[in-house]
Amino acid sequence: MEKINICKNCRYWQKDERYIMLMKAAGFSDVDEKETRGYCKRYPPSRKEGSQVWPVVGEEDFCGEFKR
Ligand code: SF4
Repeated sequence: MEKINICKNCRYWQKDERYIMLMKAAGFSDVDEKETRGYCKRYPPSRKEGSQVWPVVGEEDFCGEFKR
């Protein structure tokens, strides 16, 4: 079966294992346990202070930069 071009199959996606735990700790009780979040490491935005924040994307998101 061929994998579809969504973030969870992309080489630039990094799953965030802590997402559900952090959302619950922050008081969001209606978090979907099956929802998986991660970070797109393709184009990290840079800030003048030098820190970088990776954009958060869901496993079923996608863009034109998908790579196996
Ligand atoms: S946003 Fe695009 S480049 Fe980033 S992980 Fe998803 S498919 Fe890959």
